[in-house]
Amino acid sequence: MDTPIIIRMKRQAMNCEFELVLSGHDRQYLLDAGEEAFEELARLEEQLSVFIPTSEISDINAHASARPVKVDPRLFDLLAMAHGVSAETGGAFDVSAGPLVGRWTAGPEGFSLPTSEEIEQLLSKVGMECVRLDDAEYTVAFDRPGMALNLGAIGKGYAVGEMVSLLRDRGIESGLVSGGSSTVYAIGHQPDSDAWTVGVINPAERSERLTTVRLRDQALSTSGGHERFVEVDGVRYSHVIDPRMGYPADDLLIASAVASDPAESDALSTAFLVLGIEGTREYCDSHADVGALLVPRPTPGAEIEIVRMGEWVNGRDGF
Ligand code: ADP
Ligand code: MG
Repeated sequence: MDTPIIIRMKRQAMNCEFELVLSGHDRQYLLDAGEEAFEELARLEEQLSVFIPTSEISDINAHASARPVKVDPRLFDLLAMAHGVSAETGGAFDVSAGPLVGRWTAGPEGFSLPTSEEIEQLLSKVGMECVRLDDAEYTVAFDRPGMALNLGAIGKGYAVGEMVSLLRDRGIESGLVSGGSSTVYAIGHQPDSDAWTVGVINPAERSERLTTVRLRDQALSTSGGHERFVEVDGVRYSHVIDPRMGYPADDLLIASAVASDPAESDALSTAFLVLGIEGTREYCDSHADVGALLVPRPTPGAEIEIVRMGEWVNGRDGF
């Protein structure tokens, strides 16, 4: 058979650049499949974005405090999965952190540090135990007023997973699907290798790679406070919030997670950033199929150090 060709396609969505690297034998076929995957991505952004007033998430946020809101069964499954990750991470990952996320983001009039009273107040509007998911009716309801869902920490990974399913259905057996620097999924292996090799960006020097990871039918997600932040008096406050405390997570520079499902790895990279080294170790000890790579915030002048976890990742993939 002729040597496989590789095509690359890019598309702006969900506030980042999605990229496809597809390998096969028919260029036009690959381009058509890629285009279809991007159409699916656009549909998902319309459904999941809190920034689009007509999205299903915006509909939930507007009405679920007053009455149960019926949602698309696939979105319902995603919310149920997010509920599960919240429970498994002790609330470190929490899609109901919307009110806190909003407060720790600069608005049109800029940003001011919240008071501890404000944080207390916002914490009362956060918690997956107050989000009712009815799996007979496919409805979502909030127990309290002022609650809001935000899928920022899982939406890109979910979109990557849906695009991968579509591409596999079209017969694609080798490729990479990525959503910004957040999540990358490797379909099969590189034509000349037994896996795909992907890089993790160095948080201290973003043009450099910190390390590489070999993936095969697996996803790698990375979360970092360096990605987005607000700054007051020279202090940077990360866009990843510890929903248990109400304040930005700042022990780690970055946290990466490897899992077979990209929505799961996306959720977990955010959870690991919040949990820190000990909490992530506990999680990995009880989840043998998940791997983690953490970079603690170095003391001034010290070198960057990488902490790797997960038997499975160390053993099979040699992080
Ligand atoms: P990225 O957007 O770079 O992929 P993450 O996957 O870590 O980064 O998602 C961070 C986004 O998720 C934030 O911008 C915010 O919208 C939301 N978020 C922040 N903290 C949490 C949290 N603890 N649990 C769930 N979502 C969060
Ligand atoms: Mg995430």
